[in-house]
Amino acid sequence: MAAKLEYIWLDGYKPTQSLRSKTKIEKDFSGKLEDCPNWSFDGSSTEQAPGGSSDCILKPVFICKDPQRKDGYLVMCEVLTSDGKAHPSNGRALIDDNDNDFWFGFEQEYFLWNPETNKPLGFPVNGYPAPQGQYYCSVGAQNAFGRHIVEEHLDACLDASLNVEGINSEVAAGQWEFQIFAKGAKEAGDQIWVARYLLERIGEKFNVSINWHCKPLGTLDWNGSGMHANFSNTTLRTAGSQGAYDKICEAFRPVVKEHIEVYGADNEKRLTGKHETASIYDFSYGISDRGASIRIPLATVERGWKGYLEDRRPNSAADPYKVAARIIKTVKSVAVNDNSAVALEAELA
Ligand code: ADP
Ligand code: MN
Ligand code: MN
Ligand code: MN
Repeated sequence: MAAKLEYIWLDGYKPTQSLRSKTKIEKDFSGKLEDCPNWSFDGSSTEQAPGGSSDCILKPVFICKDPQRKDGYLVMCEVLTSDGKAHPSNGRALIDDNDNDFWFGFEQEYFLWNPETNKPLGFPVNGYPAPQGQYYCSVGAQNAFGRHIVEEHLDACLDASLNVEGINSEVAAGQWEFQIFAKGAKEAGDQIWVARYLLERIGEKFNVSINWHCKPLGTLDWNGSGMHANFSNTTLRTAGSQGAYDKICEAFRPVVKEHIEVYGADNEKRLTGKHETASIYDFSYGISDRGASIRIPLATVERGWKGYLEDRRPNSAADPYKVAARIIKTVKSVAVNDNSAVALEAELA
């Protein structure tokens, strides 16, 4: 059987990389990742190589069924330079999590966008719909816009065996969210990118584009889009002490700039301190606090300080690979052992 393998990668555009893909026909394909050969593409057309030596290498790293194509597979790839090293645009290669100790749940928000009016679905050609308030988790033709697309996307993700955990309509008209969770940072990033790819492709069918920008309605009183990063490692899942949580959260304070650098373009437009965000210039954390940079979910506290953290700063256009890589780096910079956690707890008391 000839299989259609869609090789997917990220281009070299700055500050926001886009999805690219092309089809490879493989005869007698097993369906397994290890049977996906490396491939190449013209990096001079994607801002990844000069014209004189244009070849970049596609290294398959994740495969799933292509739910919308007969005998199809989606093959997420890392980009390597022609000498086989990680390309500078390759955020996945920065992830230091080979034992899959880090679990990530990303909440991906986005707008369904009418390319003709250049406005979200639900926005009239002239003027505005009713102010936000009635759209979040709503039902009804006057409130929920584009559900047929969102439903088709959910089914596609499930058919592809992506670990999507839920969907909801969001605060602004035409704005939606899906959540994906994986045990392993690379896997979580792979699944978000494949889910984004599927959404883009389903949008094509309906001539609706996906607007990943974090503040597509500018300074008007409409919510922006985030990609909250929920994360844990063994320490966070088993700590059992507030001291350990404080110590890890405090490790984020001196590296605000390094985190914001990879949390998506134009984030200063979104992280204003309004619309359930913290100011981009501040750092704060708090239990159940949706106005903080990092929220400690109440459930984590109720389980005796065993659970996860939510970094609310990454935006909808951020690269989940780079977000995860940076969070892991910061969390791993802290040595949390029982003694130090207890000591810090005493210090804070
Ligand atoms: P909210 O909208 O209240 O912030 P959501 O339910 O949309 O929350 O998202 C919470 C996310 O947290 C989910 O993606 C879930 O998979 C993730 N999550 C739950 N437990 C853990 C954990 N131990 N480690 C990492 N992520 C987790
Ligand atoms: Mn959510
Ligand atoms: Mn949300
Ligand atoms: Mn959230």
